[in-house]
Amino acid sequence: MKVHLPSFAGQAISRLNAAGFDAYVVGGCVRDSLIGRVPDDWDIASSATPEQTKAVFEDLPVIETGIQHGTVTVLLEGRPLEITTYRLDGQYSDGRHPDQVHFTKKLKEDLARRDFTVNALAYHPRLGIVDCFGGVEDLQQGVIRCVGEPDRRFQEDALRVMRGIRFASQLGFSLEAKTEISLRKHAPLLQKIAAERLRVELVKLLCGAQAEKVLLNFPDVLAQLIPELLPMVGFDQRTPYHIYDVYQHTAHSVGAVESDPILRLTMLLHDIGKPSCFTVDYKGQGHFKGHGAVSVRMCEEILPRLRFDNHTTERVLKLVKYHDAVIEPRENLIKRWLNRLTPDGFEQLMKVKLADNAAQNPIYDRSDCYRAIIRIAHEILQREDCFSLSSLAVNGDDLMELGIPAGKKLGETLQFLLQAVIDEKCVNDREQLLEYCRKYRQIP
Ligand code: ATP
Ligand code: MG
Repeated sequence: MKVHLPSFAGQAISRLNAAGFDAYVVGGCVRDSLIGRVPDDWDIASSATPEQTKAVFEDLPVIETGIQHGTVTVLLEGRPLEITTYRLDGQYSDGRHPDQVHFTKKLKEDLARRDFTVNALAYHPRLGIVDCFGGVEDLQQGVIRCVGEPDRRFQEDALRVMRGIRFASQLGFSLEAKTEISLRKHAPLLQKIAAERLRVELVKLLCGAQAEKVLLNFPDVLAQLIPELLPMVGFDQRTPYHIYDVYQHTAHSVGAVESDPILRLTMLLHDIGKPSCFTVDYKGQGHFKGHGAVSVRMCEEILPRLRFDNHTTERVLKLVKYHDAVIEPRENLIKRWLNRLTPDGFEQLMKVKLADNAAQNPIYDRSDCYRAIIRIAHEILQREDCFSLSSLAVNGDDLMELGIPAGKKLGETLQFLLQAVIDEKCVNDREQLLEYCRKYRQIP
């Protein structure tokens, strides 16, 4: 078993070794290399103290990233590399941070503080893999297992609860039985963890290859972050358009959309308002009138609570708002959507609608219609047809020259002309638009 070490990481190990210190690549990068994934970053663990590491790399830029925790970042071949002193975590009294960290000379002790066996592997280009806790076998079997006693490990740091199911989603692994029981038992401790850290794990989980499966298996854990999910679980929709309950439908729709944070988050939340909008008609059929708007209101609470950035929040709110909008495959109507959402936003909305559709009753499949809409939108964009004020052949200055005063009336007239172009009542040509304007608007 071999890890393909990038030269900057190999160089760092050689330099530390030459200065008399042990050094290995550790953690996620070893795990990912062994299963053929491309590691995000390479981390090094070493017996050198932070001061000693700084001395070894004194000719290079060094950042004291977290020197009290033993981490310095060295810029090698232009790439940042974190080098952390072997350490033992002390007592955890708050379920979040070790009260203090102690440095050690033993690699095994450093590996023992790591969360899961597959993350507790080290590799050295000459000495090979160091596997003290059965991580290689678990990697081969596709198992997430705590290093040591699960109860103690989740109590020390409850973020590991989210990390456990996040790795299950990313790697497609299952949780070892004792680890899973303990993980569920300790899920309520997630309440102690900072929202930012939970959000990072949630997004990675949602973007994982097995997100759908993990969502279906662990609603109890996710409800610690988003309790609003719970009423969806097992909620019978009582409508021929659906074959799943609201939560199953949600999970399938997450799996049906591409792995992108905004799209996956939208699918998770698009129907969250459904349970509170449920009505049954005289035929016994269920309806969820107005659920889009209710979902939006709930997302307005949920997304800031999880400290999502403004861009993500605004995009998700828009997509949730319109996920259920009726869009007809007609050019002028599609141009209005392109104007309202921008081409990127409209493309996202169509992806949302396709994923939503894929998780409903296949008898009512509407994907052909959605694909026709996408094709028409592409044609509009390719022809560079006008659908927004920015490409209208007249602007505010032109209209002021006609005598329309700046202000509300001017804005309305521009919109009026844009609609005329979109509806093909007038071509997008300056002279003809001004003529059209004179004819149909009262010019003072
Ligand atoms: P990725 O970077 O792909 O998200 P990773 O496993 O590299 O996953 P990091 O957060 O970069 O995760 O952490 C690097 C390593 O540090 C992990 O592989 C693990 O060995 C250890 N680690 C990280 N967080 C914890 C934690 N909360 N408890 C114990 N060990 C941890
Ligand atoms: Mg990492």
